[in-house]
Amino acid sequence: MSVEGRLFIAGRWREGRGERFESIDPATGQAVWSGRAATADDTAEAVSAARAAIADWSRKPRQERIDTVLRYKAALAARVEDYARAISRETGKPLWETRQELGSMQGKVDISIRAYAERTGEREAATAFGRAVLRHKPHGVAAVLGPYNFPGHLPNGHIVPALLAGDTIVFKPSEETPLAGQLLVECLEEAGVPAGVVNLVQGAKETGQALLDQRIDALLFTGSAGAGAFFRRKFADDPHVILALELGGNNPLIVWDAADAEAVASLVVQSSYVTTGQRCSCARRLIVQDGTTGQAVLDAIADLSDRLIIGRFDEDPEPYMGPLVSEGAAERALGQAAKHGHGQRIIRPFERIDGPTGAWVRPGLFDMTGGPEVPDEEIFAPLIQAWRVDSFDAAVERANATGFGLSAGLISDDARLWNEFIDRSRAGVVNWNRPTTGAAGDMPFGGLGASGNHRPSAYYAADYCAYPVASFEATGVQSILGEMKGLRA
Ligand code: NAD
Repeated sequence: MSVEGRLFIAGRWREGRGERFESIDPATGQAVWSGRAATADDTAEAVSAARAAIADWSRKPRQERIDTVLRYKAALAARVEDYARAISRETGKPLWETRQELGSMQGKVDISIRAYAERTGEREAATAFGRAVLRHKPHGVAAVLGPYNFPGHLPNGHIVPALLAGDTIVFKPSEETPLAGQLLVECLEEAGVPAGVVNLVQGAKETGQALLDQRIDALLFTGSAGAGAFFRRKFADDPHVILALELGGNNPLIVWDAADAEAVASLVVQSSYVTTGQRCSCARRLIVQDGTTGQAVLDAIADLSDRLIIGRFDEDPEPYMGPLVSEGAAERALGQAAKHGHGQRIIRPFERIDGPTGAWVRPGLFDMTGGPEVPDEEIFAPLIQAWRVDSFDAAVERANATGFGLSAGLISDDARLWNEFIDRSRAGVVNWNRPTTGAAGDMPFGGLGASGNHRPSAYYAADYCAYPVASFEATGVQSILGEMKGLRA
């Protein structure tokens, strides 16, 4: 049975006035959510409601905003199971993973309260004339556009710090996961967020564009590099709009001088295939030593990938991964892989497997050595492209041969290689003997180059939700004649 969808504008749930659309369970093809998209008028209403709410919300004592997000955390905690199942149904991700996602969403609340105080609170220093005070102010109306792969956790990672900072929000979830977005806003409503402070519009790219055509003050975006590049151009003449762009990657993972091939395989598989390869931090390019050690690593990865259970989110035994998010996503990734893999040695094919929909795929492993160069693009699916090279220097060069810079990893027993790698690699998350997908809410998370715009999220999200104001203050009028030069007596 599919859930009936609504927009949430100015504290009221109502139907959108646009076309009806559905989100689909990629495992079965059944509708999960059905509702009408927001029109340009709906998005204009949502932005007006958010603008009208700023003054009250941003001037509330900080503790009131903190109490609100703590009540939101409690609302999430009360719904973990239903919410996790909803995300699993919309994305195909296993329940173990969506339960973790709900855990991250709750954890984010305390982390954001801490980050606000540490990174963007108020500081005061005494001066000869009085005091120098640093304050932070909210930007105003923030548009939040969410991706589908972590449809709760990633928008939550923008929304919670923005609310603490005093911003108001218009949120558009991915069109693949409108229910995950609706549940997030229901929890905020339960928490007693005042009318207009958080608004929800639903729809695809066109709705996102209509939203961004309104007068907003911030765009907090997590999604593809292509969309991020488009936003940079769109807002080139609007320097007052702050852009926080968390984008994709074409992430490298080097394996060098690591003795235990099976241990290596576990780290590589978890880097590349978790979430059916649909994490921005997944390793997409594997670089190994030429010769028998590199071959042993590739063999161990192939063996481990044969053991992965692929299944529906609530199946018994518990699956490692589910289908891709949609048949369309599978079509795109298989097309890219066919281009990249053309003429290469295919160790494990990346291909569709039988299932009720065309979203089910088997993880692939290609040996790209000696083949033509392939486009520097993200394939958002469980595919490892491997290169064998004959020196560590060549490995680092190949790792860095990308315009992206989100995550990178080294698997090695040699600490000297790690020192060289951390020094030479250009990415926002650089891990050693841990999966490239290893990240934490209390650290920065973001990338360089095509992966972002130097506004990392996670712990650092506080920075882009508020701007610093410097004030030099004297409590009474004091003459500064004594400090002025060049005066006639
Ligand atoms: P996407 O860019 O297709 O869409 C993201 C959101 O933006 C959706 O809500 C979509 O409707 C909207 N959108 C897309 N193009 C738009 C446009 N031109 N105008 C207005 N709105 C637009 O991304 P996706 O496919 O949902 O998510 C997967 C991508 O997100 C991958 O590239 C992945 O690497 C990236 N991602 C990055 C991070 C990070 O933190 N760096 C985290 C997760 C996912």
